Amino acid sequence: MPEGPEVETVKQGLLSLIGSKIDHILVSKHKKYNNEVKAIHNLQGSIISNLTRAGKFLIWEFELINKRNKNHQFLYALNHLGMTGVWRIFNQQKWLKLGFKLPLDHETLEMQEKHYKIAFYTNNHEVIVFSDVRTFGRFSIFDNKESIYNYHAIKDLGPDILDVNFDRKEFIARVRGKTSTPKRKEIGKILLDSNVVSGCGNIYKSEALFRSKIHPLTPANKISDSKLTQLADSLGKVANLALKNKGSSLRNYNTVDGYNGLMQNEFLVYDRENLPCFTCKTLIEKFKQGDRSSYCCPNCQKM
Ligand SMILES: [Zn+2]
Repeated sequence: MPEGPEVETVKQGLLSLIGSKIDHILVSKHKKYNNEVKAIHNLQGSIISNLTRAGKFLIWEFELINKRNKNHQFLYALNHLGMTGVWRIFNQQKWLKLGFKLPLDHETLEMQEKHYKIAFYTNNHEVIVFSDVRTFGRFSIFDNKESIYNYHAIKDLGPDILDVNFDRKEFIARVRGKTSTPKRKEIGKILLDSNVVSGCGNIYKSEALFRSKIHPLTPANKISDSKLTQLADSLGKVANLALKNKGSSLRNYNTVDGYNGLMQNEFLVYDRENLPCFTCKTLIEKFKQGDRSSYCCPNCQKM
């Protein structure tokens, strides 16, 4: 599943679209989009006016100008890539050269992009396509900003994994929990809670815990503040290294121009079960933690 660095890479790849006008829209006939079709079609004629990221969500802003009274109206989309969602930007000329008539109809587009869910044709001769094989992603329209920022999965996000000003004190407070009793939950589970740290998933959790020499099963209340500060630093370092590498491409994730990210080449423990630790040569272990997998070196990361 794309984590903060992958979603940020996608966002940066889409920023060139700001200012583009949406001339034509196609929405997949997949049942998950039945309720969204009408709202998505309301974006026709709008200008993509902003694109931001909150944790693993993209937030799109569209500006519509009423032809009659010249009033400006804004619409917003809350977009999650789910497990397999990818955005691609195509040049319309490519399809013209292949002899297709533009805009492509639903069936022809599906032949070109089998798992497409949404396609926006812009006035800059581009087609922006959201494809999602497993359909766990979402693209939901909101008519005001407040309701997006009040949405339950966004309204109380912890410090962002990529933030250069990552608030370590806030992170420690959230790991410990808001009550006076420190959380006894395992740190490997806590790091997957976006209300503790946002943009962190299974990959960067395992990598940051290794880099801070903390075993994923350690209960949070057994970890000192200084060790948690070290963990916060590792989270930031590993996430920004991932961003520099344009994310990790293990299965479906690609950049908007169709390339793989390269962060998988920097993994020290993730996806390295039974391979020797780069530090001490002990074999890397993989185990189930909750319903997710964790990787660690049992020698470098002692309980
Ligand atoms: Zn080791």
